[in-house]
Amino acid sequence: MTSVTFANVWKQFGTHTAIEDLNLEIRDGEFMVFVGPSGCGKTTTLRMLAGLETPTYGKILLGRDDVTLTSPGRRNISMVFQSYALYPHMTVRQNLAFGPQIRHENKSEIAASIDKVAKLVGLETLLNRHPSELSGGQRQRVALARSMIRRPRIFLLDEPLSNLDASLRTHMRTEIAELQRQLGVTAVYVTHDQVEAMTMGHRIAVFDHGRILQVATPAELYRAPANKVVGRFIGSPRMNILPATVNVEGDRVNVRCFGTTFSMQGRTFTRDRLSDKIELGIRPDEIQWVKDAPSRCTEKITGVVTSLETTGSDTFVLVNVEGTEVNSKFPSFAPVRRGDAVELVFDPADLHFFDAETGESLK
Ligand code: ATP
Repeated sequence: MTSVTFANVWKQFGTHTAIEDLNLEIRDGEFMVFVGPSGCGKTTTLRMLAGLETPTYGKILLGRDDVTLTSPGRRNISMVFQSYALYPHMTVRQNLAFGPQIRHENKSEIAASIDKVAKLVGLETLLNRHPSELSGGQRQRVALARSMIRRPRIFLLDEPLSNLDASLRTHMRTEIAELQRQLGVTAVYVTHDQVEAMTMGHRIAVFDHGRILQVATPAELYRAPANKVVGRFIGSPRMNILPATVNVEGDRVNVRCFGTTFSMQGRTFTRDRLSDKIELGIRPDEIQWVKDAPSRCTEKITGVVTSLETTGSDTFVLVNVEGTEVNSKFPSFAPVRRGDAVELVFDPADLHFFDAETGESLK
């Protein structure tokens, strides 16, 4: 097991800065997920850790060893790719044996390791098949088994589930998380899927434009996003962002949003002075239909239904409130239709306050 440190790491491709001053500690035995939109630098960071790219500046440490310039083969890191990269003309057993044979490991030890990892990932009965005779999930298991057979210090996984269908993806993410737990090995997992990140990671690093915006547990990211981008990226459906103004009178904060003014007391902010204009973040499941709301929800807004989406257990309803689309949670199959006027309520305690200019959280 091994910890990882990125210290002031930059990566430039020509004039393009892909990673800007990255500082991150990944703990021994931790399951760390890198999440963020396409092109934000997740894969480049993973490839630098694997030794497939060299940082332009900065250092990467494994434990206490500076590996910034160490070749990939000498880092003892395994990487599982989206494409699986299995040899099509070899059986599963031969695919698994290939790496150890090249390293001239002992034959009976190779056979014993194959049996062990095959059992761990449920491949025992498939060892004599070729990759073309396997399902997508089974191929993914072979790729996992092959990377585990090296007993790596760190396991890197780059969008390993993106070629699988939705139900298999859900199943495999549980399996990978369980496998990591059993092996206790440090793992870094790249995905652009926030649900995958939230369900698998001990901690999540949210990337955007080559920088890390926040590193936190799934619960912390959800409850206390450091800024608007993280608030919008984590959670589905997305957090609503509502324009508002504030004025502070002593320990009372008066917030005006959609023609409604409400006061909050005892709420502390990171700044002594709030700028007049702010943005309020509130998640769709914290804005409810008046008829369905718990009594703690006191602040009311009114608008017109523009669209509905029913998941079965819930209905998410887009409501146009003074020109802003507000997504809100209604009960399953609620008797509302497009064009209906509806009243929505929320609890001010659920609001997130963001600086309207920088997007930083004010809490
Ligand atoms: P995705 O989810 O689409 O894989 P990502 O977050 O993994 O995206 P990276 O692949 O790390 O993003 O790319 C980060 C940025 O660096 C992108 O703008 C990309 O175009 C650029 N980039 C990556 N590799 C190279 C390269 N070899 N040469 C030039 N630019 C590159």
